[in-house]
Amino acid sequence: MHKVLMVMKSKTEKEDRGFGLLQKEVIDPDLCCRCGTCVAVCPEDNIHFPDPTGKCLPADKGTCRDGCALCSRACPGADSDMSRFCEQAPGDRDPGFGLGPYREICLLKAADPAIRAKSTSGGAVTALLTYCLEHRIVDGVLSVGPDPGDPRRSAARISHSAEELLQCIQSRYCVVPLNAALRQLNPDKKYAMAGLPCQVEGLMKLRKRSPVLVENVSLVLGLFCHSTMYFEATERLLESAAGNGHTRLSAVKYRDGDFPGHFTVHRENGSEKIAHLDQLMVYFDFFSLNRCRLCMDHVAALADISFADPFPFLRELAENDRKWTAVVARTEKGSSLLEAALADGEYLTRREVRDNHVRDWDRGLHSKQWMHLLQVASDRRLGLAVPDFHAPLPPIGLIKALINAAKARVFFNITLGSVEMLKNAMCRDSRMKTLKQFRRWRRKRNRCRVNNIEGGAG
Ligand SMILES: Cc1cc2nc3c(=O)[nH]c(=O)nc-3n(C[C@H](O)[C@H](O)[C@H](O)COP(=O)(O)OP(=O)(O)OC[C@H]3O[C@@H](n4cnc5c(N)ncnc54)[C@H](O)[C@@H]3O)c2cc1C
Ligand code: SF4
Ligand code: SF4
Ligand code: SF4
Repeated sequence: MHKVLMVMKSKTEKEDRGFGLLQKEVIDPDLCCRCGTCVAVCPEDNIHFPDPTGKCLPADKGTCRDGCALCSRACPGADSDMSRFCEQAPGDRDPGFGLGPYREICLLKAADPAIRAKSTSGGAVTALLTYCLEHRIVDGVLSVGPDPGDPRRSAARISHSAEELLQCIQSRYCVVPLNAALRQLNPDKKYAMAGLPCQVEGLMKLRKRSPVLVENVSLVLGLFCHSTMYFEATERLLESAAGNGHTRLSAVKYRDGDFPGHFTVHRENGSEKIAHLDQLMVYFDFFSLNRCRLCMDHVAALADISFADPFPFLRELAENDRKWTAVVARTEKGSSLLEAALADGEYLTRREVRDNHVRDWDRGLHSKQWMHLLQVASDRRLGLAVPDFHAPLPPIGLIKALINAAKARVFFNITLGSVEMLKNAMCRDSRMKTLKQFRRWRRKRNRCRVNNIEGGAG
């Protein structure tokens, strides 16, 4: 008995220390956002991602130093301070939830038509980073691009030239623990980073709460983010677009062509297969991370500059000129960099936006964050693990909490292996079949109605 108690005690102690703490507080309750910060901070190089095409979760290599807890301190998974939305730099307008603090908002597009054509929105991220590299503002850029060893997969990349940067253009809707690559940066060189809000937060936590020096990441560009998906989503899109024989590929792109673009698979022989963006969007409901459902920062409020799709401003743009990036400059550094790049004239083109559209955008984001806050409050009401946002949660009744949690799980938590049925329902052929069946049924129903009416009239 005594022995059993001793084993249990040492097990609990282990769970409450070192990597065990991260496992208990973040990984087991499914609060990990796969940012990779824990890998960067670990002094023992103890953390790795052994399953990048599966759940892509951090794991213990067995070399943890007890009592260190640096990984838990730097992790944004279960502890994510939302006061970022209230911090106001001098001269900022309209702080608060929604868009977060900012100095200016505009539309930008890459002046180089080649960058614009390959980009997600307007190529502003790639054009600005190219400016930074070519003007020696930074020596390198940490961002996400295709995995050089396998074009189906995505990976963290460090670019030192405009050519390398161009290979990383376009959003890739697949989990990549980007911050893990912070370990590979040369401490004597200066870098810029482009990442999702949780990756930006991980970097900021490293700066604030750990002795790991990331001061050499001198410029932080953030992407707006609704959610990201497991690699399984890409595999299923590949199957749906190109069938099972998708082995000889040269590239996989998620937002190819005219705005808003579509998922394309490029073969080595030059041919191209497409899955439409609406299909990609449906996949977000089924393959997103649980943590994305509970995420409160969709706008990268901690970045120097945040970048988004131009959807809120489409009313201002002509049908044939929609490739623009919506840009939110937040810090002094971000604003002056944009000013310098625009003054150069070779990299970016600017367009003003209307204030009422900015206000609508802010309101839309506000409602989105409110919906996520309700998700968080519902989960907490049901005793499920939620991140600590250092912000009050709205009170919520048990029934409402149950309904919210059930709704969210239908759309979000069906992942990895449990979607065999949906796979068939989503592939284009069977969608067409379903559509044809529906049309046949409607025709039949209409014929019946006509007969009934005619019968009745007679
Ligand atoms: C997962 C994800 C979700 C997004 N959700 C939204 C959204 O809901 N609303 C919205 O307005 N915008 C969203 N965006 C941002 C949007 O898709 C564009 O990235 C943004 O508008 C910039 O466009 P651009 O043409 O200027 O960028 P580009 O010049 O095309 O450059 C894209 C940059 O994104 C980086 N990148 C690509 N994939 C990833 C990734 N998985 N993780 C980190 N960095 C990456 C590339 O390295 C490159 O630097 C999302 C982006 C991603 C990656
Ligand atoms: S950061 Fe510290 S606690 Fe975490 S795995 Fe590494 S050595 Fe262990
Ligand atoms: S630091 Fe990031 S990747 Fe590591 S456990 Fe936390 S959320 Fe997950
Ligand atoms: S929704 Fe939030 S947690 Fe999910 S990938 Fe985007 S920033 Fe990270």
